[in-house]
Amino acid sequence: MTDYRSARSRGLVPYVAGEQPKDRNIIKLNTNENAYPPSPRVKEAVERAAADLRLYPPTDGGLLREAIARRHGLPAECVFCGNGSDEVLALAYLAFFGEDRPLCSPRLTYSFYPVYAQVFGVPYAAVPMRDGLYVDVEALLAENRAVALANPNAPTTVGLPAVRVRAIAKTLRERGRLLMLDEAYADFAAEDCTHLVGEFDNLLIVRTMSKSYALAGLRVGYALGQPPLIRAMAAVKDSFNSYPLDRLAIAGGAAALEDDAYFRQTRDATVRTRERFTGELRSLGFVLPDSSSNFVFARHPEHAGADVFAALRARGILVRHFANPLISDYLRITIGTDAQMDAVTAALREVV
Ligand code: PMP
Repeated sequence: MTDYRSARSRGLVPYVAGEQPKDRNIIKLNTNENAYPPSPRVKEAVERAAADLRLYPPTDGGLLREAIARRHGLPAECVFCGNGSDEVLALAYLAFFGEDRPLCSPRLTYSFYPVYAQVFGVPYAAVPMRDGLYVDVEALLAENRAVALANPNAPTTVGLPAVRVRAIAKTLRERGRLLMLDEAYADFAAEDCTHLVGEFDNLLIVRTMSKSYALAGLRVGYALGQPPLIRAMAAVKDSFNSYPLDRLAIAGGAAALEDDAYFRQTRDATVRTRERFTGELRSLGFVLPDSSSNFVFARHPEHAGADVFAALRARGILVRHFANPLISDYLRITIGTDAQMDAVTAALREVV
């Protein structure tokens, strides 16, 4: 039999997304979705937009692009919109990384980064961590490559302060290298780095509405950067798919951004629950860094991660466990509602 795949597709080792169980009764804390539904304005806006589905959407995100620009106090020329931040990241690889533009990342980070490097043929270095879970900034810079950095990092939940990110951007700019900063979880942190966009022509910030705006199912991601970077992204997009965002996503995303009170209320609730749950985990003997995201990353010194995962699963609670030996002791647990986290605490009390 002929194998019709290209050499590139034969060699792929794809990213594995978290499970989406069919059973609605499972407490689902495995893919860092928001505990709360999106703003009620999203549904209204999506319904209104459905009336225009006969027409193609704007190629640049239209109203959504303007709403994102307003949220971050930037001109629309500094905003690129895409179909979830995974697509934005992929287009950034095509625009900025390749044989002549090698890339590095911390070894423990979003596991899609090495996958994109592989599919797009980008030389990629995975830089060892410091003390297990912490980004080793000096080692990253010693690579003398472009840097892809999730901040706060996933799955470790640890964030670098903006002053340190600024220092990284500055060093990389002196060397003519790009910093791609993935702020998927930054809305749950004490600070972000969007104020650095005006200062650094080598900084591309990638963001998602999947987490803090509870729109994982709508697929809205975006990038912030100075206009030459944004134009490079648009050129790659227009060589691939002119309309990455449909009319429903544009309308729904813009409506969510306009409901700032709802955004703050649900974000603050998640952060409060996270702080309380962190305390409860520690009192049960779990070890975990302070989280700057909407999930925690914890291990118990006396119990293997796989065992605790299985025991929770048997009690109808789904969290994430990674086979990677560097972190196989750990569980990544998304912050749900207070009631859900109380159920997790009660289950863990039985298990450990
Ligand atoms: N970056 C990080 C660090 C993530 O954890 C995720 C979620 N898996 C993404 C990007 C992609 O999110 P989305 O495609 O839903 O915008």
